[in-house]
Amino acid sequence: MTSVADIDDTARIIAAEEEHVAHNYHPLPVVIARGEGSWVTDVEGKRYLDLLSAYSALNFGHLHPALVAAAQEQLGRLTLTSRAYHNDRLGAFAAALAELCGKDLVLPMNTGAEAVETGIKVARAWGYRVKGITPDRAMIVVAGGNFHGRTTTIVGFSDDASARDDFGPYAPGFVTVPFGDADALESAIDENTAAVLLEPVQGEAGVIVPPEGYLRAVREITERNNVLFLADEIQSGLGRVGETFACDREGVVPDLYLLGKALGGGILPLSAVVGNTDVLGVLRPGEHGSTFGGNPLAAAVGLRVVEMLSSGEFQQRARALGEHLEQRLNGLLGHGVTGVRIAGLWAGVDIDPAAGTGREVAERLLARGVLVKDTHGQTIRMAPPLVIRSTELDWAVEQLRLVLEG
Ligand code: PLP
Repeated sequence: MTSVADIDDTARIIAAEEEHVAHNYHPLPVVIARGEGSWVTDVEGKRYLDLLSAYSALNFGHLHPALVAAAQEQLGRLTLTSRAYHNDRLGAFAAALAELCGKDLVLPMNTGAEAVETGIKVARAWGYRVKGITPDRAMIVVAGGNFHGRTTTIVGFSDDASARDDFGPYAPGFVTVPFGDADALESAIDENTAAVLLEPVQGEAGVIVPPEGYLRAVREITERNNVLFLADEIQSGLGRVGETFACDREGVVPDLYLLGKALGGGILPLSAVVGNTDVLGVLRPGEHGSTFGGNPLAAAVGLRVVEMLSSGEFQQRARALGEHLEQRLNGLLGHGVTGVRIAGLWAGVDIDPAAGTGREVAERLLARGVLVKDTHGQTIRMAPPLVIRSTELDWAVEQLRLVLEG
């Protein structure tokens, strides 16, 4: 057995992890020991520019001083009560988040998948109790290429074989339509449809932005058919796309926002479902919950996150830096890059197979001090912290150019 005291270099740490941690991920071979802002440092002292931000959970960068201060202050007072009692932090967090979303109610949970599961439960309960759907018939329309998390219900409506295969039997109650096709979505709706569940920009699929007008059409169709619109903004929300929410890009307000990742400031898991009383109010005491959901430590950090988003500064940075990044990445089209998709400071970059796979490009970028992550074979994803500088983005794109040149 490897003891922690023996672990003093990269290879041994990775070997120990591989020996004792289940192989449910395939991490790049780097062992990160410290982080600050947009940069991390490995155990050997080498620095890397973090262009992944823990899949957008680190929108404010590593160890943002205001967030660390909020966590530290709360750590000295109270960390956990469970919802068996009230705590003196949850109410302020919920009020601020509700205001940010323009809604009345917040249901706090921990992980993104839990927020999605919560949204599904609320939509079904609303379907039976408000819309009057026949018991156990409620349907939810989802989009092809979706990624909403890893629970058994959620992977059942994924069309990604590696997320889904061998984890059945799958929960019924979902129908899949092509992402971006409003007519197909409307055709899938019938009297049993309780909700439509979508990522307004699909993240894991490779930053897929739907055609202009799609989200407005979804809103109009769902309203006309008395169906809820659940927007999974767990990755796209909270500043990433240059607006507070990706739905804002089309001026659309869903019935429920599903939030996570950056809500916890990159410090702890914090997710939430946010909606109005006529929808979220269908839940009664005892029907849903989580031991850690709404804990005072997470609420203190979450409140600071919401305060930081309230000025619009981070959204503005994401917009301006995203335009800058897009220009730079477009310069690589035809030079090892076959496609660039951008939404705010969030990019999907398709790599020409002649230049290597997404994984190979990520490994070569790692050697040059840039962290990205591949997805679906030929795509690399970039979700830099919103605190990054434009000169740092320039440097990272130059490293990509060099990597693609071979
Ligand atoms: N929804 C979306 C859009 C996501 O991108 C993710 C994670 O990548 C999730 C849900 C699941 O979040 P978590 O990993 O916190 O369960």
